Amino acid sequence: MIEFASVSKRYPDGTTAVEDLTLKIETGQITVFVGPSGCGKTTALRMINRMVEPTSGHILIDGDDVTTRPAAQLRREIGYVIQAAGLFPHRSVVDNIATVPVLRGERRRDARMQALGLLERVGLPANLGERYPSQLSGGQQQRVGVARALAADPPVLLMDEPFSAVDAVVRDDLQAELLRLQSELGKTIVLVTHDIDEAIRLGDRVAVFAQGARLAQYAAPADLLAAPADDFVASLVGRDRGFRGLSFADESQIVVRPIDHEVDGSRLETDQDGRPLGWRTTDGLFPTEGSFREGASLRAVTDLVILSPAGAAVRVDEDGRADGLVLLVDLAGGVRDQQRKRLTVLAEGAG
Ligand code: ADP
Repeated sequence: MIEFASVSKRYPDGTTAVEDLTLKIETGQITVFVGPSGCGKTTALRMINRMVEPTSGHILIDGDDVTTRPAAQLRREIGYVIQAAGLFPHRSVVDNIATVPVLRGERRRDARMQALGLLERVGLPANLGERYPSQLSGGQQQRVGVARALAADPPVLLMDEPFSAVDAVVRDDLQAELLRLQSELGKTIVLVTHDIDEAIRLGDRVAVFAQGARLAQYAAPADLLAAPADDFVASLVGRDRGFRGLSFADESQIVVRPIDHEVDGSRLETDQDGRPLGWRTTDGLFPTEGSFREGASLRAVTDLVILSPAGAAVRVDEDGRADGLVLLVDLAGGVRDQQRKRLTVLAEGAG
């Protein structure tokens, strides 16, 4: 656990970036600091690995005050990923990744070997290893940045706006990749972003900061959407939060009907193995516009129902064979369930 205990930071020019921040960050989870530009997120993050020293208060990692550890050693033991990767331009990709292990005394050859394995881990082919950062796309550089931060196998990873410099499609891939990696690695990750959608997607817990790192709300993403603590948080999470909350409701709460090839005058056509091909209506064959697997969110299923020519989302099994249908009327139960959950969160907040 990482603990901020009444931490403040006032810069020499008199700016108070963080004022009296108290916060506990759980081990093995992704905690996101989100808030408008200049509210003190980066300052708070950098105090964890002593790149910035607090003016007052304490930061403890597993009970030990970070100031009792030499800053250089601490920084080698905590992975750090920044916007635009921050790679050394004159070092090859492999040597970038091997940097910290070599600093820690590992043999260069071993460190480079491990670096190749890490490239694969972050979804890059090993043959990129001999390239220089400028020869990679922004998204690839960012993956190398993550690989480099993971090279020393640190239990804690700090990520400062790691995906802000890439376009929306690449960002989406990188976010998915981070979640996949984290499900394997279970690191303690603290991630800073100004993007509330990113916070909601990635965070197990989200700390919403206002100016001076005032903690406006600290909650699970679903609770943030269900019950913003005040107007500031409500304006930050923005519109459609009821609908967006459906991302956290899973499909197990809605009725999935056995496959019925006739729906409302449309007919689901499948190939000989039972994989959906499309909906046959009197006007012709229309693509199913996607399908979902068990465990999909209610939001994703709702989207498919709306897009489907027949108004029916098709569930497929592991082999892609159609094995269930959700109709428009079946969504109502899930939506109702979500609405009740919100009331529970509100009641807890009020009680
Ligand atoms: P965020 O990451 O939320 O954008 P920062 O932690 O970078 O916010 O900055 C918080 C406040 O501290 C801002 O007003 C910023 O201008 C100020 N600040 C950040 N770094 C310094 C510095 N080295 N010296 C003086 N002021 C700083």
